[in-house]
Amino acid sequence: MPIFRLAMHPASEGDALMLSWGEEGSLHHALIDLGRTKNYHALKPRLQTVGTFELFAISHIDADHIEGAVPLFRETALPFAARNVWFNAYAQLVDARERVRDFETLGVDQAEKVTVGIKASGWPWNSQFASRIVSTDSSETAAPLPLAGGLKLTLLSPTDHQLTRLLPTWERALAEAHLRQEDKDPVAQAEVEGREVLGGLNVEVLAARQYSGDSTRPNGTSIAFIAEFDQRRVLMAADSHADIIEAALERLGHSAANPLKLDCLKVSHHGSKANTSPALLGLIDCTRFAFSTDGSRHDHPDAETVARILKHDPERQKTLIFNFRQPNTEQWDDEALKARWHYDCLFPETGEEGIEFEL
Ligand SMILES: [Zn+2]
Repeated sequence: MPIFRLAMHPASEGDALMLSWGEEGSLHHALIDLGRTKNYHALKPRLQTVGTFELFAISHIDADHIEGAVPLFRETALPFAARNVWFNAYAQLVDARERVRDFETLGVDQAEKVTVGIKASGWPWNSQFASRIVSTDSSETAAPLPLAGGLKLTLLSPTDHQLTRLLPTWERALAEAHLRQEDKDPVAQAEVEGREVLGGLNVEVLAARQYSGDSTRPNGTSIAFIAEFDQRRVLMAADSHADIIEAALERLGHSAANPLKLDCLKVSHHGSKANTSPALLGLIDCTRFAFSTDGSRHDHPDAETVARILKHDPERQKTLIFNFRQPNTEQWDDEALKARWHYDCLFPETGEEGIEFEL
């Protein structure tokens, strides 16, 4: 049987994800994000082993996704090669703005480390798109994009509108991504309160809390896609906004009556309660949910997200997959809850961080 695997490497509170597909001994690989600087250094030997990636995607500019790419591009000899790079930098935001005909002027010429690094690498950058913009408004995304070895990618996010919205704050957002120690998140404060559930987790109460969507601009530019191989599908949601993914799935013809069948959802924004809406859960048919975060900074995943997932599909057996054992994930490793809500948990081996599993 062909292999189709997702690895969620240790990436602090962020993502460093790897898809692998093909036959054992001749696997193809895609790398999505590189976590923080220390995560890149820890992952480097593994990246060297892979040698060549079919795709290196940097989903968006938040530090927990992009920071590890800065030391990568400082290397005198790059530890791997990439046949395709997907990254929306300043130039792509400007082009997206032109395409939506929003002529707001902005006199900023931003050159930054990753942009310079990709150029210096010589790796083909956004070359599957004539406009060089990774956006669902690029005509190439009307059909799934093929990668070598038979993987197909269906882009769901971002739109030109989301990219354009980031322009006025690009410099600030980038500065924050690289420099800011305290990563302020508008929803972080409320998230802490969500964990104060006396006497254990009450799924009914948590799931019933009012859903309020993420409006942060960098997350809105997340490159998110469905990856399909051997009739198996995973939705790699990055830190995308739920309403953008919902709209993309509806454009693909999905509805509550015709949900997208998935073998795994890489849950958006590390399980933040602002990124997995009840409406989105209604558009997918999925029993495996993967969370990438060590819980630092934002206490992700939020209990509300896990509760909404369980409550949405209470009878079928589900699997929660975590790349760290940490308080926000271990609290779900509870026999009574598992029996009541029909799920099991997949954690890293004892003493380990990161997890890899077959899709
Ligand atoms: Zn993130």
